[in-house]
Parts: sequence; structure tokens; C-alpha cells
Amino acid sequence: MSGSDAGVVIVGAGLGGIRVAESLRANNYDGQITLIGAESHPPYDRPPLSKSVLLGKDDRVDLKPAEFFDESSIGLRVGERVSAISPDDHTVTVEKLDDPASSETVGYDTLILATGLSPRTLPGADGVSGIHVLRSIDDALALRGEIDDASTAVIVGAGFIGCEVAASLNQRGVTVTLVEPAPTPLAAALGTEVGALVTRLHQANGVDVRTGVGVEEILTDVSQEPASPADTGTQATKVRGVRLADGSEVTADIVVVGIGSIPVVDYLDGSGIELAPRESGGGIACDENGATSAPDIYALGDVANWRLESGKTRRVEHWTHTVEQATVVAHRIAKTDAMIPATPAYFWSDQYNLKIQVLGRPESTDQLHLVDDDGTKFLGYYSRDGILTGVVGAGKVGAVMRTRPKLLTPTPIADVLG
Ligand SMILES: Cc1cc2nc3c(=O)[nH]c(=O)nc-3n(C[C@H](O)[C@H](O)[C@H](O)COP(=O)(O)OP(=O)(O)OC[C@H]3O[C@@H](n4cnc5c(N)ncnc54)[C@H](O)[C@@H]3O)c2cc1C
Repeated sequence: MSGSDAGVVIVGAGLGGIRVAESLRANNYDGQITLIGAESHPPYDRPPLSKSVLLGKDDRVDLKPAEFFDESSIGLRVGERVSAISPDDHTVTVEKLDDPASSETVGYDTLILATGLSPRTLPGADGVSGIHVLRSIDDALALRGEIDDASTAVIVGAGFIGCEVAASLNQRGVTVTLVEPAPTPLAAALGTEVGALVTRLHQANGVDVRTGVGVEEILTDVSQEPASPADTGTQATKVRGVRLADGSEVTADIVVVGIGSIPVVDYLDGSGIELAPRESGGGIACDENGATSAPDIYALGDVANWRLESGKTRRVEHWTHTVEQATVVAHRIAKTDAMIPATPAYFWSDQYNLKIQVLGRPESTDQLHLVDDDGTKFLGYYSRDGILTGVVGAGKVGAVMRTRPKLLTPTPIADVLG
């Protein structure tokens, strides 16, 4: 099965998968490329799921037109899941989702793992209608399908996805309660001072933000629903709200759970491929260029935990980061010596009509210097030990982007604040 014509096999046909395939071709890799994806869709973009898709402005936003795959000689196999990997044989086992008994062995010369994340859910949520997570287009369309009939929603977890869903449902006319055990939304990523500004944004739009309290219990109604006139009825369990740890109850036609995700690594069982410790973010342990502990196997994107030049390790769940890792891995496989320009880390989040952007790698404990705040839009710089570590802006695209060069070299915060 293995051999020089087996080419590159990519597991996961999401953002990282398609970008590494594309970058390999752009770097003149002319071997076979096979892209295997467990969803029944071609590669599509996830950021719109919590924004324009929920708002009804977009359906699926594909990352490439259908003809791209033939034109680039990239073999796209969707609706197929890699269930096992054998690094010794240089093979993967592939199962068709609509035929779980099917099993095919596919050889590779180089294997790339880009399998993303699986959202966490709440205990007691299984089999209860009206409870949603949001990772895939199928998740988004299932949630969107219930919005018109819903008047109330609880969003559990005020991370980026929770905040974006709260904003979108609010914009769709649903009364939203956002529940977060931390002192503010986005506290872990941006610190509590910026988190307070995000709270203000949601409150100004009419969202009830409950912080410092978690969800204790999901509240449900059980009804008899006859499947047909002859049927005596089957039981249906539907969410009706949540009870919070402070004893209060919040009514909800819809509950969206945004309490984080875990790296998809189940198919690596028995492969011997090293995983990163949970304390450092978990996922697949990689060196500075995406190589895993097994020969000829790389990992990138949300599932990958890359070692940094500082020796620290990090797993990042952002779009631009995934694209940059795909470029690095493709360059390494295609053995190009072209320079990849250094860029500061970047991510964004769209909430209401505001674009929140972060450049650099601020930590929640860094000192925040808020330099502009008009009650909605704001701009702040982060520093640690007197050195600029990042910039955050809401509705401040130009000012954020102008900070780029300063984040490429150690810049005293005093120089930035002028
Ligand atoms: C709702 C939402 C909104 C977001 N918004 C933003 C944003 O505003 N800004 C930002 O910076 N980032 C955002 N992100 C994050 C960004 O989309 C991710 O960082 C990016 O999608 C990661 O790409 P990936 O290829 O690692 O994983 P994914 O895009 O998740 O792709 C992984 C693919 O692998 C498939 N797969 C898993 N296991 C197997 C297997 N065994 N065999 C075959 N296929 C498998 C999965 O089904 C999936 O299709 C958002 C994410 C979500 C979910």
C-alpha cells in the first residue's frame, strides 16, 4: 500500500485540510493528494456559522468552488471517516459514514492530521430537543431551524462562540440570557477588563448577562407525541430552561451550549502517536513545524499542539493560526526554502455590528491600557513587564492593524502609549 506514489493523505476536510492541500500545490508538490472528511460536505468555513448563517444571510460558505478539486488534482472523499492509523505500515483505515461496515486501507507517504474539535455538552443534554452545540454546518442549520419558533434562549458559556450566538439570536428577535461562571465573558482570553466591555455591549443590546454562576440543571418537559394516528405515543423530552447554581431558573425554548471543545483524536488510539498533556491544551503533540512523534505524520489546526521556539507548547483554536500552520507544513513537505513572512497572531470575533480583533498573544493576566472607549467601540494595548504583548479593538480595524509591526519586535509599552 505504501510507496512513493501513495502521496499525501490529509485526514479532516476542514479549513486546515483544504489549506494544506492548496498550499502543497502552490509549492509545486505534484504527487497524489487525498483529502478525507468525516462530514458529508465539501470544505466550508466555520466562522459564518455563528454569524451570517444563524442570521439567515448565508447557508454553507464553501472554501473552494466545486471545480477546484479536479483542476488541482486533489482527491476529495467526503462522508468518510478515518478510524485508525498504522504508522508502521504507512496506512490509514477509512470507513464510509453511510456504511459503517465498510473498511478500506489507504496508503500514504505523508499523512496530515487536521481533525479539529468536538464540542463539549452538558450532562443531561442527550436526547433532549432544543439543546444545541455549534461546530458544524449541520449544527448551525439545526439551531437556525428552531429560531423562528423560539422566544427565549439561554446560551451556556460566554466564550467567543457563546457571545457570537447570543448576539445573533438577539438580532433574530430572541430574548437571550448569557450564562458564564467566570466573572465576565471572554475573561480567560482577554481578561476581565475587556470582558466587562463585552458585557456592556451585550447588555446594551438587551441580553441578560449572568456571570459568576454556572448551570446546575437542565429543565425539561416530557410529552406524549403520537408518531401516527395508530401509535399510542412515544415520549419526547424538550428543554424548557435551566436552573443556575444560585437557585434561579431561566426559561428557554432553546439552550445553546458553548463550554469549549475537545481535540478529535479518537482515531489515534493504538497508533502510538504522542498526545500533549491536558494541562498544556491536549491535542496532538508536534514540533515547531507540525511534525508529530511518528515519522511522516504532521498535525495542524485546532487539534494540533505545536511547540514554540520558546520551548512552550500551545494549541490554538483560531482561523488565521490554522491557515498559517497549513503553510508551514506544506512548505516542509514540499521541501521549499521560500521564507514564510513572520506575522503576529491574529483573531477576530463579530458580535452585533462590531468586529472585535486581537493581534499578538496577550494573556488574561497582562496589564491592559485602555486608550479609547466611546461607550461601544474601544481600543486597548496589553503589556507584560513593560513590553507590548497585544492589542484589542472593537470597531477599531485601522488602529489594531497599525500595531502589527510593533508586535514583531519587543516594543516597550511606553513607546506605544507615546
Ligand atoms: C462556530 C464557529 C465560529 C468561529 N469563528 C471564528 C472567528 O470568528 N474567528 C476565528 O479566528 N476563528 C473562528 N473559529 C475557529 C476556526 O473556524 C477554526 O480555528 C478552524 O475551523 C480550524 O480548522 P481545522 O481544520 O483545524 O478544523 P475544522 O475546520 O473543524 O475541520 C476538521 C474536520 O475534520 C473532520 N474530521 C474529524 N475527525 C475525522 C476523521 N477521523 N476522519 C475524517 N475527518 C475527520 C471534521 O469532521 C471536520 O470537518 C470559529 C469556529 C466555529 C466552530
